[in-house]
Amino acid sequence: MDREKFIQQHIEMENFFSGGFVPKGNPQPDSSLSEDIETPSKLKQTADEGKAKAELEQIVKEAKDCRKCEIALSRLNSVPGEGSHRARIFFIGEAPGADEDALGRPFVGRAGQLLDKIIKAMGFERAEVFIGNILKCRPPENRTPKAEEIINCLPFLQRQIELINPDIIVALGAYAAQGLLDTTKPIGQLRGQFFDYYPGLGKKPIKLMATFHPAYLLRNYSPDNRRKVWEDMKKVVTELGLPVPEQTKND
Ligand code: URA
Repeated sequence: MDREKFIQQHIEMENFFSGGFVPKGNPQPDSSLSEDIETPSKLKQTADEGKAKAELEQIVKEAKDCRKCEIALSRLNSVPGEGSHRARIFFIGEAPGADEDALGRPFVGRAGQLLDKIIKAMGFERAEVFIGNILKCRPPENRTPKAEEIINCLPFLQRQIELINPDIIVALGAYAAQGLLDTTKPIGQLRGQFFDYYPGLGKKPIKLMATFHPAYLLRNYSPDNRRKVWEDMKKVVTELGLPVPEQTKND
């Protein structure tokens, strides 16, 4: 594996977990790491690249024109989602907030900055994953999504998942996990284990890992909650066959 990238991954992980956790060992170049160990790719191969891109663009257009819910009237922009059509990981949050509504891009506010750190700590660039939400429009005053809004909006997300066909979906928070798994179980019970998400009849299930929403983590930034999110993300990276930086508890 690329030694520089591995070191960078250590540093990102250390930044994210600073205060309570330190990486195991010294994040200096490890001479035992061979330059040319083959690791699985961070992007998927696609049979029909042009088709996936065109259909994802079509969803962007449809989401921009969508007026199914009242919240379409108060939005500044719809937030269809963004990232690589070859993504192996699809992160799914709840709904756009004020920053996302202003820019038409998902996870660009404070929670987004934390998500970026998590993605980097996992050894990925933001552009290598796909990021979306259960709702494509901002609910006024950042209220939680209504059931009918989820029902109206979910087909967009289901089509995006089917087109990208990621190896793993990461559901960020209760609304994403419950919406995709069609359950009312609390996030504390859902996080930390893989579930199967069924993209459609006759389609292979996609593994889904639920974890705490970055906004929840910001409000409850305890070493224990950070450790839980990191444990969940380590399972994702391991499942993808990619290397995970080691860490030890510091307290
Ligand atoms: N919270 C979300 O759930 N999604 C965003 O895009 C931003 C914040």
